[in-house]
Amino acid sequence: MRARAVVDLAALRANVRALRARAPRAQLMAVVKADAYGHGAVPCARAARQAGAAWIGTATPEEALALRAAGDTGRMLCWLWTPGGPFREAVAADIDISVSGLWALEEVLAAVRAAGRPARVQLKIDTGLGRNGCTPADWEKLVAAAREAEEAGSLRVTGVWSHFACADEPGHPSIRAQLAVFRDAVAYAEAQGLDPEVRHLANSPATLTLPESHFDLVRTGVAMYGISPSPELGTSAELGLRPVMTLSASLASVKRVPAGHGVSYGHLYTTPAETTLALVPLGYADGIPRSASGTGQVLVAGKRRTVAGRVAMDQFVVDLGDDAAAVGDEAVLFGPGDRGEPTAEDWAEATGTIAYEVITRITGRVPRVYV
Ligand code: PLP
Repeated sequence: MRARAVVDLAALRANVRALRARAPRAQLMAVVKADAYGHGAVPCARAARQAGAAWIGTATPEEALALRAAGDTGRMLCWLWTPGGPFREAVAADIDISVSGLWALEEVLAAVRAAGRPARVQLKIDTGLGRNGCTPADWEKLVAAAREAEEAGSLRVTGVWSHFACADEPGHPSIRAQLAVFRDAVAYAEAQGLDPEVRHLANSPATLTLPESHFDLVRTGVAMYGISPSPELGTSAELGLRPVMTLSASLASVKRVPAGHGVSYGHLYTTPAETTLALVPLGYADGIPRSASGTGQVLVAGKRRTVAGRVAMDQFVVDLGDDAAAVGDEAVLFGPGDRGEPTAEDWAEATGTIAYEVITRITGRVPRVYV
């Protein structure tokens, strides 16, 4: 096999258990959007359920419907809706629909009429992220409309929720501010007669650092995949999490070249002396950032080697010096770090991005292998 992303589902289950222990009074929602951050939504959702995740969360309705089609019958919330989206299918499939404004409520009510059954909706308040969610100024109107629809038997408001902007920066003033707006929004909704099953705000960093944000449920994504949400919170090992994905490839070429040999497009790297070059058959079409050129590291023949020259569409080169390696030997790009390989967090630092992106951008050309 040219390359593989080995997905350790036992590690995922252990991470879910560790996160549940961090939020013992809350339920856990396993966030499996974007194909479970590149790990594969169906197997990861199943493993998370086995470890006690009561909820599954997705961004798009298509992601949630695909999980239903794969046989997941548990509670599920989907939050990224656009006009004309598959509201009827979601109502028919018993998916909780996040509602951020009156237009979405109208779509839900039309879907309820078409599906001939009530919907479950969760009202989202924008407490300060400035992305999706109803503004506090419009909250009264949304709550009133939802309450009226609930009284008419068209829907049940199962949740009130929001999302943090800076939970990965402990002590950031916006955290307190968002918590206060959230508490007020929940109190107002309850005073108007809504009785949500779940109130929720916490993502992975808040689950790990801010118990008062746990409310009834925590929504964990990145930490469930064994990745630290930010270097400020420590490494995954320091947080008691185990990285789930190991990305590796089989060397496609190993050859001796003389000093002064230019390597890859643009000859950004030239061999300083006679040396051995090894070809790793992964490139930016597989999701390896082109910005890893000269910065990313790979474990080959027991040592970390820096990417020599440019990452191309399908391949990149590492300089082994005088160390021995053979075609077919394994190059490990990232994993838990046990064998000395870099972690996804190391790749994020080397390429100027976040570990979320490092794992999520690995494309479908790389087969996922579940262990
Ligand atoms: N909740 C929502 C609404 C999200 O969009 C995300 C992902 O960004 C999460 C929870 C999970 O975040 P994290 O991966 O930091 O746990």
